Parts: sequence; C-alpha cells; structure tokens
Amino acid sequence: MTPETSKERFHRMLLLGVQRLRGRPVGAYIRKLQEWESLEPKAFQRLRADRLADTLAYAKRSVPLYRSGPWSEAIGGGDAEALQTWPVLERAMIQASGSELLSQSNTRSHYFRRTAGSTGAALGIAMDTDAAAWAWATDYRGLLWHGIPVGARSIYAYRQRESALAEWMRNRETLLTSDLSPPRLTEAVKYLQVAKPTYVSGYVSAVCEMAQHAMLFASSRSRPLVPFVKVFGEMLHKFQRYQIEQGLGSRVIETYGCSETGTVGYECPAGSLHVFAEHVEVEILRDGKPVEPGEVGDIVLTCTTNRVMPLIRYRVGDRGRLSPDPCRCGRPHPVIAGIEGRVGDVLLTAAGGRVHGTALGDLLKGVTASSPTAIGRVLFQQENQRTWTVLVQPGPDFGDGIATLLVDGVKAIFGEECRVTVKPVLEMPREPSGKFRFYRAARPPACITT
Ligand SMILES: [Zn+2]
Repeated sequence: MTPETSKERFHRMLLLGVQRLRGRPVGAYIRKLQEWESLEPKAFQRLRADRLADTLAYAKRSVPLYRSGPWSEAIGGGDAEALQTWPVLERAMIQASGSELLSQSNTRSHYFRRTAGSTGAALGIAMDTDAAAWAWATDYRGLLWHGIPVGARSIYAYRQRESALAEWMRNRETLLTSDLSPPRLTEAVKYLQVAKPTYVSGYVSAVCEMAQHAMLFASSRSRPLVPFVKVFGEMLHKFQRYQIEQGLGSRVIETYGCSETGTVGYECPAGSLHVFAEHVEVEILRDGKPVEPGEVGDIVLTCTTNRVMPLIRYRVGDRGRLSPDPCRCGRPHPVIAGIEGRVGDVLLTAAGGRVHGTALGDLLKGVTASSPTAIGRVLFQQENQRTWTVLVQPGPDFGDGIATLLVDGVKAIFGEECRVTVKPVLEMPREPSGKFRFYRAARPPACITT
C-alpha cells in the first residue's frame, strides 16, 4: 500500500468529517468492518449468524408485511435455517406494498432511494443516515482492500454530477455517461495523464468507452494511465475486462450490487468476488430451494444494515453461483463464483436450445483480442429464433473481415441455419434505464421458463 499523501489525508478527513456532521459514522463503521474481517473464519461465521438473527427478529417485530399473509409462519430470529422459512420477496411486492415494509420501530427520518432497475420500472427503497453510513463504509472498505485510501483522487463515470463543492470534497471529476462524445472522452483521458488520479470508477460500458478511446489516442508508453478501475452497475464480461486492461493499463476491480441493498460483492486483490457478508447475506435458490454449493440459481439477498426497510430474501433478478471454496487471500467472506446476468437473459438457439447471452461476451473477447479498435458499441439483437441483427457502431478498424467474424460467431453459438445481418449504425439504442447492453431478445421467447 502506498502511503497516503497529505492531499488524500485532507480529503479523507473532510469527507468523513462532513459525513459525521450529517449523522453518518462512516469512519467508525469502516474501522468496525476492518476489525471484523480480521476474525478467524469460525468467529466471522458467528458474527454473521448473530447479525442475521438480530435482523430477522427485528423485521418480524417491526415490519407489518412480515407479520402478515405468507410471512405469518416465518421464524423471527434464529439462523440460516430460520431464514429459509421466509417467503421470497419479489420486486413487484416492494412496488405494491412498499409502505407495509417500513419499520414501525424506526423513529428517525428517512428518505427514499429511487432506482429504475434494468427493466426501467421504478422502485423506492427507504434508507436513513445509518443505512447510508453502512453503504458508504462497505464501499470504502472494498477500495481499502486494494490500498486505495478514502479521499483518493478519481474519475467517476456516472449518469449525474453532484454540486461543484461536493465533487471537490470527493476529490473527483465526473464524466457524465449521457455525453461520451469524442471531445469529452479526450478530456477524460487528458485528465488521467495530467492529474494522475488513483482510480476510475463507473459503469462498465462507460469505462470501456474511455478505454477504447485511450487505445486510439494515448501513447502506449503512457500506460498505465490509471492504476485501478472499479466498475459497477452492469455485468462485467471478460472482453470488457480485457478492453479496460489494454486501453487504460489498469487493474480492474469488479463489484456486484444493486441500488436496493448497496454493494454486495467486491473483488479482492487475489481476484475473487467476495460477498460483503457483514452487510448482506446471499442465497442461491432454484425452485425456491437453496442449491448445492457451486450450482447456479437465482440470487436472493438479505440486508442486515437497513433498519428502515429491512429486505429479507429479496430476489434481485440476477442469476449466479457461490463458490464452495474460500479464497486464497484468507478473507473470511464467501466468494461469488460467477454472476450470470439477468434471469431473463436466456436466448434460444435455432434448434430450440437455451444459451445464456453471456456466450456472446466470449465471442466479443475473441474479436477484440484480434482487433481492439474495430468495434465501438455493439448490440446482438435476436429478432426471432433464427434471425439476428448485429448493430455495430464501427471503430477505425471495422471492415468486412470483422463483420464476417461476428456473423460466423453468432452462427457457431446459435446454429448455422440462423440468418445474421450486421448493420452499422451511428447511435446505439439504450435500455430504459439509460445503460447500454450488448445482447437482447427483441421479443422475449415465450416458451422459456427459467
Ligand atoms: Zn480473496
């Protein structure tokens, strides 16, 4: 870990001091998290079990929804087995019964954190200063795993910017993801070269744009342009990690989370995506039952730090699996072995087989490895079972050879009988949430159940 500079120290004390004045003991929670993570595995397990039992008892006592209907039989308190007596909480239930999820024991003021989610349907999660402090602390703790201090200079690639004062306090420049035009990307790359921030954090697709731009316009001698890149908000595919490593020369830190609970998983220096288990419990379910360790299923989250609106067994809509083995780094937190994207992301082959859309990520990794600046943005769109349109915002090296690679790649995965058309476009369509994605079914296949 490099020693903290006086400027970083100034920003750390300023940031944590302002948070304390706002009633958020972020610094104290970071110290607590660091103390807990140094526990022996058994002691860490006991801590998790205690926090879970407290949360279940509190939720049962204080939240009207958890005393009604199918929750009547759920056991308040107890361990992971008690948790399994709780019904799964669906996103639609939060939308329909949000007020029933508010704790009656909470006397402090709260606010709603609104999320569009990947479907674009709005959802409001109530938080208070304490829940916010935990969310901040867990995220800073992840950076500290890599030796990145609180207050280190950064570029933030995000959909909105805070006030000039708040940006200065955070020691960061924000690159708005609504304007990733070449002039703005050039400014961002110049900032990396001149101001030498410690890290970039941002949406995966936005950071990839920055990396591709840097690949074209920054001298190879200047890499690494920034030591670390922390990505969030979208699934990180192998080809995207490769693009960032090549374009910016950075160590990529993957994270996994959602607005509803905050950060759930964080990559450690040894490369494992660890669950922030002091703050959120992760279960993997199939047909409503926990899978065997290592198997894929629906990701279900229980947050143990939000006492205003405790989410118990919330089905977040992603699929993934937990590793049966601990990480070699020695941290006691469980390891997420893989995130497989949204539940509805399964596509059909021409013969009717099911393939997760992430297979197209492997195809793109091959294409970008051979020709890193050929493709700007890309979207593989399945029009129907045998018809594909591949929208491409071409890069400088795009040509017939790359188009053929894309066509052949789709046919290799989804069947030779598929009709695949590559269509260059000036602008790539966005999802309702404002993010970009690189594959989708134009109409969800009706015959699929997951
Ligand atoms: Zn690890």
